[in-house]
Amino acid sequence: MSSVDVTIHEILSGESHSPARSTCNSRLADAPWLFDAQPGYGPGSSERDVIPAITPRQGVLPEEYRTASAAELDLRIRAAKHTLGDRAVVLGHFYQRDEVIQYADFVGDSFQLAQAARTRPNAEALIFCGVHFMAETADMLSRPDQSVILPNLAAGCSMADMADLESVTDCWEELEEVFGTDPTADGLQPVIPVTYMNSSAALKGFCGEHGGVVCTSSNAAQVLKWALERGQRVLFFPDQHLGRNTAKKMGIPLDQMPTWNPNKPLGGNTEQQIRDAKVLLWHGFCSVHKRFTTGQIAAARAQYPSVRVIVHPECPMDVVDAADSSGSTDFIVKAIAAAPSGSVFAIGTEINLVQRLANQNPQHTIFCLDPVVCPCSTMYRIHPGYLAWVLEGFERGEVLNQIRVPESVAVPARVALERMLALAPAARPAL
Ligand code: SF4
Repeated sequence: MSSVDVTIHEILSGESHSPARSTCNSRLADAPWLFDAQPGYGPGSSERDVIPAITPRQGVLPEEYRTASAAELDLRIRAAKHTLGDRAVVLGHFYQRDEVIQYADFVGDSFQLAQAARTRPNAEALIFCGVHFMAETADMLSRPDQSVILPNLAAGCSMADMADLESVTDCWEELEEVFGTDPTADGLQPVIPVTYMNSSAALKGFCGEHGGVVCTSSNAAQVLKWALERGQRVLFFPDQHLGRNTAKKMGIPLDQMPTWNPNKPLGGNTEQQIRDAKVLLWHGFCSVHKRFTTGQIAAARAQYPSVRVIVHPECPMDVVDAADSSGSTDFIVKAIAAAPSGSVFAIGTEINLVQRLANQNPQHTIFCLDPVVCPCSTMYRIHPGYLAWVLEGFERGEVLNQIRVPESVAVPARVALERMLALAPAARPAL
């Protein structure tokens, strides 16, 4: 079964990715290369998602990197970075562990990093310590003569993999059968596709070709508003939670946002439900953010009555509703920076970011809502061993693990990205 099949089967059977301790451990920290050929994403909350067959596989890392000590890798990475100077920029996603972030020239979310790379015109290599869709976006937004490198090709994203071009195209064709392709008299299209940044370049291209747009977690409301000004309804993928939380805040009733299960006719809905829909929510989710629960929030409030609970909008709706606020990683970082000394924060997002924020802000008490420390196992695949390998390769003149989006995909994908960028400044992701 594909990843979508597996995850949806588990949801429907009630066998979801529960925060069971047995699925979450730190084996990836020591030897990530042992997991690269396995069908799952690796130990962690997305262990049970199966990596789609078309996802790139990482070859065997040369033994000298697999057996090097942390101290040796540190020396080699620093030496390679020093030799390369401005020729190589290391980009580190917020969710990377500190062992990798220490080498990053820029730290941020996926879109911030793609934009940050533009500020280094002399860089020949953009080494993206993140996951596959992020490297694709960086490639599409960088100059043609720059090479984007993903240190470990197995670093995908289980959420992004829950929607692929084939199943979204099938869905689109079903919707066209219901609604046709003609706009209303006042120019509203039947459906506008909106894809979250956490999706493949192919899906961004699909949106570009079909009058749609890309959104991030920081501008999803402005993007949905844009889309609903141009269409009667929106098809939102792949993250149902970001779509639902955003649309709900905009006042759209829950019964006007059915989920779309790609394994069922009409996504598992009646034709009337589809006709009544304002936002059709693809049945995807983030395995990391799905772990957060209202019980964890209640426990945090019981322990710290003054606690401020902030969660990422990829969390389930009941969790977002029970929190004090929700927002992107950038929102969380800024909220903590602006708080008076002595504040207490319970944060519902990936553990590496939360721990870093706790270390950087000793004036506050900051902790992760989830008591079982469980990182994003796909991000975790960027081990310093892979970083040393690609940096030293580039030093020798070899571009290892280059991510290159074909122009046939990149051209329409850039259209969807540019539509997002053309929105009012308030809708732009913070840079
Ligand atoms: S935290 Fe979730 S959405 Fe982000 S890369 Fe990991 S699996 Fe994907």
